[in-house]
Amino acid sequence: MTARFAGRVAIVTGGGAGIGEAIVRRLVAEGARVAFCDIDGAAGARLARDLGDAVTFRELDVADGDGLTAFIEHAAAQRLDILCNNAGITEPGSTRDIDLATWRRVMAVDVEAVFLGCRAAIPHLRRSDRAAIVNTASLAGLGGYAGMAAYSTAKGAIVNYTRSLAIDCAADGIRVNAICPGLVRTPMTSVHRSDPAREARMMSTIPLGRVAEPHEVASVVAFLASDDASYVTGCALPVDGGTFAAVRPGLSGAGAAL
Ligand code: NAD
Repeated sequence: MTARFAGRVAIVTGGGAGIGEAIVRRLVAEGARVAFCDIDGAAGARLARDLGDAVTFRELDVADGDGLTAFIEHAAAQRLDILCNNAGITEPGSTRDIDLATWRRVMAVDVEAVFLGCRAAIPHLRRSDRAAIVNTASLAGLGGYAGMAAYSTAKGAIVNYTRSLAIDCAADGIRVNAICPGLVRTPMTSVHRSDPAREARMMSTIPLGRVAEPHEVASVVAFLASDDASYVTGCALPVDGGTFAAVRPGLSGAGAAL
């Protein structure tokens, strides 16, 4: 594997499992030093043990804005080149049945933490000559999913926040992009994939006919974070096996990709 990130420092939120873990592994494999956080201390510690000196881990709920800011300030003290705002949660519920506390929790983790992470990181990223932010949005940010009001709203906000931030940061040389994964084989989606009938229904909505592996999403994040994407900013890139290209009305969050 090429060392596109040799000498560079990256921060990844929600790096203990799933897509975030794959991002951490990929950035390290390409030479980066990575500071990652996760609310799951055991999962994060396991990964940190596995990857050794190339990483540092902090147990953290990204909804704790002061904690997130302190984590970023510490990790970026020497330098910072890449920020991956990846931590996210999903909660089912349409407007009729989602309660306000759940709605606010999704907004705090999926939206506010991205804003606070960027705000803390930008002064440090300005010092890098190759700075990039990659936000993990979702296909749910490109179209509404029935029965997932909070999640669709949050991910839609991230798509447009990414565009807005890309414009604001362009003069500082900081590129800002988002990925919009479809259905990825992670702990988050295990419940959707555990029922064979439901899984078959979901597969029928994906032109490539299969679920993405986390490393297939991480490789796109690495591309967007790298000089290979030096002229790409403000984009929300579907990583979805063609699902968005073939969007069909009437899919619910439970039946469509996440
Ligand atoms: P996951 O639940 O499998 O893993 C998420 C990781 O983030 C876990 O290690 C978890 O402990 C951590 N995390 C959750 N809440 C946190 C918090 N408040 N603070 C810190 N860490 C926290 O999820 P995933 O599937 O890997 O999803 C990662 C991102 O990708 C999320 O933003 C999600 O919305 C997005 N996404 C996932 C899919 C999919 O199909 N899996 C599709 C589209 C978008």
